[in-house]
Amino acid sequence: AKPIVAIVGRPNVGKSTLFNKLAGHRIAIVDDTPGVTRDRIYADADWLQYEFKLIDTGGIEPKSDDIILAQMKRQAQVAIDTADVIIFLVDGKQGLTDSDNEVATMLRVSNKPIVLAVNKVDNMKDEANAYEFYNLGIGDPIAISSGQGLGLGDLLDEVVKHF
Ligand code: GDP
Ligand code: MG
Repeated sequence: AKPIVAIVGRPNVGKSTLFNKLAGHRIAIVDDTPGVTRDRIYADADWLQYEFKLIDTGGIEPKSDDIILAQMKRQAQVAIDTADVIIFLVDGKQGLTDSDNEVATMLRVSNKPIVLAVNKVDNMKDEANAYEFYNLGIGDPIAISSGQGLGLGDLLDEVVKHF
């Protein structure tokens, strides 16, 4: 079976934008089991000679702040349970938040390979914005811009190392 790569992170960090960039238009499976999997979107993707399945864990996200953290934790658990590699996506414009720390703690103890990507670094002269995310304790942050398509090759190089 193809390795599974899940994208996890707060609402609005750019998970779906990254997913769409990496997946092209080849969305393979949408499992619409009510209340359980409608909030996950799957696609086939590849990089170099590697093929993998990509999951956007945040398909439908809550609007109200009080359930966002609960949903993030659930999404992180889904990723831990199903993925071979987890892309933990954070927002380089907004900076490090408490919810990032909470999710990082879950991911850290999971023993799954985690690749930390700092999105919205639209200009690589702002790469230093990624440095504060070293504080999450899950390795070297990789600066990317899903919007501009920057750093995605570096990110995927890191992901496929864990296959
Ligand atoms: P999700 O909630 O994590 O799935 O985030 P979305 O992919 O829906 O993106 C949330 C917002 O961030 C949208 O307005 C995107 O256009 C914007 N966004 C996503 N990636 C980037 C990026 O690399 N740079 C900038 N400036 N905005 C981005
Ligand atoms: Mg989304």
